[in-house]
Parts: sequence; C-alpha cells; structure tokens
Amino acid sequence: MSRGVVPRQPARTGRQDKVRIARTPVSAKSESKHTARIQSASAKTTPARKKATPPAKSATAAKVNGYNPVAPERVQEILKRLNDLYPDVTCALTHASAWELLVATILSAQSTDVNVNRVTPELFRKYPSVQAFAALTPEQLEPDVRSTGFFRNKSKSVIGAAKKIVAEFGGQVPEDIEKLLTLPGVARKTANVVLGSWFKRAEGVVVDTHVHRISRRLELTKENDPQKIEKDLMKILPRERWILFSHQIIWHGRKLCIARKPKCAECALENICHAGDKTWSTVEIHKNAKG
Ligand code: SF4
Repeated sequence: MSRGVVPRQPARTGRQDKVRIARTPVSAKSESKHTARIQSASAKTTPARKKATPPAKSATAAKVNGYNPVAPERVQEILKRLNDLYPDVTCALTHASAWELLVATILSAQSTDVNVNRVTPELFRKYPSVQAFAALTPEQLEPDVRSTGFFRNKSKSVIGAAKKIVAEFGGQVPEDIEKLLTLPGVARKTANVVLGSWFKRAEGVVVDTHVHRISRRLELTKENDPQKIEKDLMKILPRERWILFSHQIIWHGRKLCIARKPKCAECALENICHAGDKTWSTVEIHKNAKG
C-alpha cells in the first residue's frame, strides 16, 4: 500500500456489514401502535428479566455468549502468531552478567531500553563489578545514571542492592525469587527479568508497561494491577512460555501495538483482537478490552 493511504476503516456500528435500519415516517398514532406491537411480541418471546448480576472480574471467568477470551484454543492461537512474528526475541537490555542485567532493569523503570543501553556500557566499564558499585555512595553514582530519569532513587536502589549482594550473598546475584525480592529497588518485574533472562528460570511472567497494556487489549486479563495481571497470565499461559511470551509482547508493543495509536491494520493478531482502542477492525470491538 502506498505511503499515506489509509484503508477505509470499518465502522464500529456494523455499517460495514450493510446493516441498515429502514426508517419510514410514521404518525404519532401509528407509532404508538407499532411500539405496542413490538412490546407485545417481545413479551411473548423474552423471558422475564432477572436482576443483573455484576460480571465476574477475573478474565478466567469471562465467558459471554460462548466467547471466552482465555479459552485454551484462543490463547494457543495468540502464542502461535507471536511465535511467527517474533521467533527469536530476547531481552533488549545490554548485559553480560546477572548483576549487569539487574542494574539495567532497575535503570529501565520509567525509561526506555534504548536510553538505558546508552548509559550502561560506560557505567559497567567504569565500575566493572558488584564490589565496585558497593564501594560507592548513591551520590557518586547519580551523574552516571541521570539521563535515565528518577536518578536519585535509582542510584539508591543500585548501590543498596550492590551492598546487600556483597554483604549477604557472597557477591553473587541470588537465583531465588524470595532473596531477590529482599534487594532494594527489586520488585517482581525486575526479579522475573533476571531469573528468566539470565538464569532461564520461569518463576513468573514479566509484566512491564507493554505486557500490561497488550494483555488487556487481548483480553487475557481485566486487571490493572501488575501483580494481578501476572497471576492471570500464569494461570492461562503454559509455564514453558512464561519467559518468551513477555519478550514477544514487549517487542510487539514497541513495533505495532504501541500505546497511543496501535498499528492494527498491519497486525497479524488483528482478526482475533477485539480491543476497544483499535485503530482498524474487521471484528467486533469490545469496549472493555483496552490497555
Ligand atoms: S490488533 Fe491492534 S490493538 Fe490488537 S494486538 Fe494488534 S496492534 Fe494491538
């Protein structure tokens, strides 16, 4: 398709399916007769309405009119298409050890991987070991990580983690989620990145901003809290896909399923995605399914 030519977007109302409502002028009298007929027909065919019960919150329980967004076949189809799209993706943060990956992940909060990768090669050349970091004060590190944003907190976390790793874990990044979570600045996302990408241990699913947004768009979860999203994903994804799924979704979020204007017309998941904020759709839109 030539540049700048945007395909006609099907209307959300279903007009693209040539659904038309015939409208003929009716008088007030015939309109009231017509309404009465519809009401009487509806009363014959529609059972008495029960009091509406609120929908189940968990995506795993979401099943409306036979459509279950987390049905195993649908999840498998999503995973298959992600495999076709992103067969060999890995962590985009430059690192050569578990410690470097831990530092890079702490620095990546509220920043981009590209931004972090600009900073870390020089940082790891200047301070080549966890012991070298542990000998610093946070103030000494601040100028080196300033461009990644929130640099005071990040300096504190990195130096605090280095000191603890040297003092309590023999200078080695622990390969255990409970121990990792005791390090300053390390929450489940960072711990899962280090365990999955360095130690190849699937203890959970990394939920960053891309996984958060796209899991909701694809209706794999209805949750907003990263920990609850992770729980939902752990329930529906096979464990052997926990690590790769995050990498693939993160790449998808960078390339196509971007936050503001997802490139739905180019997306291979389009005909199984019902996100409420799609920019192009050939399928029914689900208003609640958005990032
Ligand atoms: S169709 Fe659009 S919203 Fe859905 S996954 Fe693809 S890019 Fe994202």
